[in-house]
Amino acid sequence: MYRSRGRGGRATLADFLHTPMYRFILLGLVGFCLGVFTVAWTMQAGAQPHRARYAIPPGAAYHVRASGEVVPVGGAAGSPPAMSAATTPLPQHANLLDHQYHVTSEFGHYPNGGPHYGLDLDAWLGTILHAPVNGTVTEVQRDCVPGDQGCGKGWGTHVWFQSAETGHYILIGHFQRLNDWVQVGTTFDAGAPFGESGSTGFSSGPHVHLQVNPDQMGNPGSTNPAWEFPWLHCAEPVLGALFGAGCP
Ligand SMILES: [Zn+2]
Repeated sequence: MYRSRGRGGRATLADFLHTPMYRFILLGLVGFCLGVFTVAWTMQAGAQPHRARYAIPPGAAYHVRASGEVVPVGGAAGSPPAMSAATTPLPQHANLLDHQYHVTSEFGHYPNGGPHYGLDLDAWLGTILHAPVNGTVTEVQRDCVPGDQGCGKGWGTHVWFQSAETGHYILIGHFQRLNDWVQVGTTFDAGAPFGESGSTGFSSGPHVHLQVNPDQMGNPGSTNPAWEFPWLHCAEPVLGALFGAGCP
């Protein structure tokens, strides 16, 4: 049974292999595969700068530069000099987002009247969010998934940090993903890439929740982020690139 079926199959196949139709299909398949490979390779190459992974051994202290470079702090053997980061001029301000955005929900109250302890900015899914000032990470929540509204106290995947400029606690919420370097105790320069915007936690779509509290990492006592970041006062749409340079 098997032999006869196999022999029959081979004969049919051999005939088919010599037809122009076969060559047409083969060329089509090769072309399709090349196209898929090219697209995948291009996307991968394009995503690479945003997907940098950092090796962070536990139990060590790190400083992260605006470029995203992670520098050990404390002068462990074989590591770069402890104060190398401090000998280069440090940026004081950087763009939170690298594109125009709108304030979609002001500080104080949501349109429906509920209290809003921060301020929301629109952001496409996967937008890289950078540290707007120098600071120190004070709380990290990772791995919230969209739809889990209570994850990260509603802030979803988020980071709290203390501004080196004002000492205030600043929250950025609803990330899709945080970079590995974002660990409690890590210091960073303005411009250091926190991760990609998303819609985790209590969120109805991709956006950035920015919250400022002079005294604690929480809601009571929160103040208007536009006091901390004057560029939020600018007329919309605001270009994040104008941070620190006044309104356009
Ligand atoms: Zn919000």
